[in-house]
Amino acid sequence: MTATLIDGKAFAAGLRERIAGHTAAMKERGITPGLAVVLVGEDPASQVYVRSKGKQTRETGMNSFEHRLPTDTPEAELLALIEQLNEDPSVNGILVQLPLPGHMDEAAVINAIRPEKDVDGFHILNVGRLATGQKSMVPCTPLGSLMLLRDHLGSLSGKSAVVIGRSNIVGKPMAQLLLRDSATVTIAHSRTQNLPDLCRGADILVAAVGRPHFVKGDWIKPGATVIDVGINRTDDGLVGDVDFAAASQVAGAITPVPGGVGPMTIACLLANTLTATARANGLPDPEGLTP
Ligand code: NDP
Repeated sequence: MTATLIDGKAFAAGLRERIAGHTAAMKERGITPGLAVVLVGEDPASQVYVRSKGKQTRETGMNSFEHRLPTDTPEAELLALIEQLNEDPSVNGILVQLPLPGHMDEAAVINAIRPEKDVDGFHILNVGRLATGQKSMVPCTPLGSLMLLRDHLGSLSGKSAVVIGRSNIVGKPMAQLLLRDSATVTIAHSRTQNLPDLCRGADILVAAVGRPHFVKGDWIKPGATVIDVGINRTDDGLVGDVDFAAASQVAGAITPVPGGVGPMTIACLLANTLTATARANGLPDPEGLTP
């Protein structure tokens, strides 16, 4: 392996420490940040995520509120809970774990969250604010990926960036953040032609596809920085969207899976909760936690 390993696990641990420090300082002023996580149904992966979110929230010194609802909960009941959390001053951040059961309108549920408390950054107002360069809540996985990129590269200005994937939770907000940092951004997806060639021009390559080992070693520009967002469960365990063994022979730097972007996601959720708390109390944004 010739590439530098971008250690998201270590970076996330440092980030959580800084968040814990800010939280302690806020508590001295009588403010305790609170994050409410709502889980509807029994999806096993979601249950794991919700558990670790609660644990890490408490470890940082914040209040964690968990709400579990059965799969067949009527949408109106979920909306009523969200309204109650919107009004609750001890709740600074609200996260509804996705995916929701099929009978629910995901967009309607997300847009019911008060934008200031939307720590996932999926509310239509936050999406619009990010796109127009206004203060917003930024989706956690792209925010974490941006932090790793900046930490490794310093300025992203003028770099050529390719994002594979155009989902609302990863690809699109990732592209917005790269653009905001003055990278030249291309968004690729399942209809993109000559994807390998496109990738070969990328100084920064972000893979958010959801297919194991999709990006091959010979797609990578020598010396490029590769961010592998993918989390794929296979018989060989958890693997990313990038063929790590081959790519790490060509790239300048690369995130591993696990231990790369994954740990950054929850750390950024806590960062967003802290930012939301600061804003709710008229305090300046804590340094280094927003783009
Ligand atoms: P989605 O399934 O919503 O989006 C996948 C994207 O990949 C789509 O835009 C799709 O294109 C594109 N795609 C699929 N096949 C191809 C192809 N053959 N060539 C080019 N593009 C293709 O996934 P998510 O964005 O939600 O997640 C992506 C990955 O990131 C998953 O592995 C997921 O588990 C992981 N993830 C990791 C997180 C973390 O914390 N590290 C958080 C969230 C997700 P099209 O739009 O044309 O269909």
